[in-house]
Amino acid sequence: MSDEIERVARILDAAGKVVALTGAGISVESGIPDFRSPGGLWTRYDPSVYATFESFVNDPSRFWEMAEELNPLLENAEPNPAHCALAELEQLGKCDAVITQNIDHLHQRAGNTDVLELHGTYRTGTCLTCYTRHEFEEIKELASDGRIPHCKSCGGVIKPDVVLFGEPLNAPVLHRAIELATACDVMLVVGAGLEVFPAASLPTYAHRSHTELVFVNIAETAFDDIADVRLTGKAGEVLPRLVEAYRALSGN
Ligand code: NAD
Repeated sequence: MSDEIERVARILDAAGKVVALTGAGISVESGIPDFRSPGGLWTRYDPSVYATFESFVNDPSRFWEMAEELNPLLENAEPNPAHCALAELEQLGKCDAVITQNIDHLHQRAGNTDVLELHGTYRTGTCLTCYTRHEFEEIKELASDGRIPHCKSCGGVIKPDVVLFGEPLNAPVLHRAIELATACDVMLVVGAGLEVFPAASLPTYAHRSHTELVFVNIAETAFDDIADVRLTGKAGEVLPRLVEAYRALSGN
């Protein structure tokens, strides 16, 4: 592992533009479990019932039932050493942007300034009738005692600004993510199982553009064959070691 980490430190040193793509795995050490691993949310809440746009419109109570379990985890989570390492890489000029599938706002809280939230954020919600935007604190109050939160302006149902299954991603955010993936010299793919599309296709765009791909994961992913280097281990342990190795090499 030390040799591989030093290899990646050299790759970073030579790189002009570095982009990170992160998935649920980077936030597991902050206490937010990923969804697909054994015991994960999808093993208990069938996403086709609890997390599609269609099911939300037909019966939002199911979604809000699941949110009652998930929201406290999101709210109480703190950035972990992996988030902090990516913020440190940005300060060192070696992380131009973070493209994340996560909705937990932890990259921004760690200090990264250019974060593309492919799947939206739990921090706000929008009324499906009049499109009034609501902050999380307000939604939490409206949803207390297991109620479905309704808009204060018109009484419509509020949907959190997270992308549900069957819902399109924000087009400008996705387009910029594709641009970054095709223009960067290095992509760090951290804690992403690469099973959810279109996010999972970003490493392929990068690979076709001759970007060096570094995967950090505790397990194999569906796209391991295109990785230039695989660092196997917990993101919260691997990324701080990588920053340390890069600092030692570059004298920064
Ligand atoms: P995913 O596809 O990103 O898979 C999680 C990956 O993380 C797996 O490959 C797993 O091996 C890896 N992993 C787990 N712990 C790790 C660790 N400590 N270090 C490094 N890698 C680790 O995510 P998913 O669970 O299939 O979730 C699907 C979607 O649901 C996400 O894209 C996201 O939109 C949403 N989600 C968000 C959060 C969050 O905001 N924190 C959490 C769960 C799910």
